[in-house]
Amino acid sequence: MPNPSQCPACGAPNTCTLADPRTAAQPCWCFSVTIDPAVLEALPAELRNQACLCPRCAQVDEQLKLNNAHPAGD
Ligand SMILES: [Zn+2]
Repeated sequence: MPNPSQCPACGAPNTCTLADPRTAAQPCWCFSVTIDPAVLEALPAELRNQACLCPRCAQVDEQLKLNNAHPAGD
């Protein structure tokens, strides 16, 4: 059973808010980005939907930087 708080691809903390009961009510970083389906398909099937990728493996570092530079809220 993979650790839900670790990236299944590299083992780094995935900082998924849903994996931690203390932060589960907060939206995860993954809600604000678009993950390339090819990245998910590259994972072994048994690891998919078990744990979140870390932002780096999900290849969304750039999207997160942009979101931080322009916080949502219109
Ligand atoms: Zn990773």
